[in-house]
Amino acid sequence: MILSDQLSAYQLAEPDAEQAALWVFVKTKEPQIEWHMDQRVGKQLIEFLDKAQYIGGEIAARHFYKRPGKSCSWCDYLPMCVGVGDKAKANESLIQIR
Ligand code: SF4
Repeated sequence: MILSDQLSAYQLAEPDAEQAALWVFVKTKEPQIEWHMDQRVGKQLIEFLDKAQYIGGEIAARHFYKRPGKSCSWCDYLPMCVGVGDKAKANESLIQIR
């Protein structure tokens, strides 16, 4: 795995850790575990921090962007997000905090 945002965030949270890696369990006839290392330094780390700061600001401003993918099939916000028009499901899924 190269330039994983998740691993970069872990590296920043635990700067004393020697290495961050994702372990992937590969379910094949001969199951195995793969290690995917990642280490951003210098310009790559600055880019990640800029992106995290931008996205953090967008979240604080309550701006959320659609990122359609595999997760949509089990996402509670699907009715609102992709506009399938199921208002009842949307009302069931979303809460308003006030
Ligand atoms: S349906 Fe859910 S997972 Fe898919 S883009 Fe919308 S908010 Fe994201």
